[in-house]
Amino acid sequence: MASNRTFTMIKPDAVKNGHIGAILNQINGAGFKIIAMKYTKLSAEKAGEFYAVHSERPFYGELVEFMSSGPIVAAVLEKDNAVDDFRTLIGATNPSEAAEGTIRANYATSIGENAVHGSDSDDNAKIESDFHFAGTEMFA
Ligand code: GDP
Repeated sequence: MASNRTFTMIKPDAVKNGHIGAILNQINGAGFKIIAMKYTKLSAEKAGEFYAVHSERPFYGELVEFMSSGPIVAAVLEKDNAVDDFRTLIGATNPSEAAEGTIRANYATSIGENAVHGSDSDDNAKIESDFHFAGTEMFA
């Protein structure tokens, strides 16, 4: 059964470019409820840990540097079929391939600096939510 929670980050590029409000508005407008949220900054160590699954990829160093380059907004979202529906809402990894109207089509600048993160599975949604939030910081 699909879980009803996913995890997102508004990445440093979108924060720097002033898109926090517009992105949260689009997320809410698509029917997601925010059940946890924080404005924070990842250390390089924490960013490396979060993206450890990509450590063998050629862009890993760039990704860690980017994700620790400025503040982010981390949030846990609730909706039926949250993981798949949120991946649809954000669009393809590369904004030039992202469907019109998706968050990445609207706000991302490149394949690396692509405005938002969205969990790719129910298991990862749980792992990623727990990485950023204690149980007492989630308000379902
Ligand atoms: P996602 O699930 O759509 O976020 O994509 P992936 O799991 O494949 O990649 C994780 C993140 O790594 C992406 O969101 C990008 O920020 C970054 N990334 C992926 N591919 C590239 C690339 O070719 N170059 C760079 N610089 N970053 C990349």
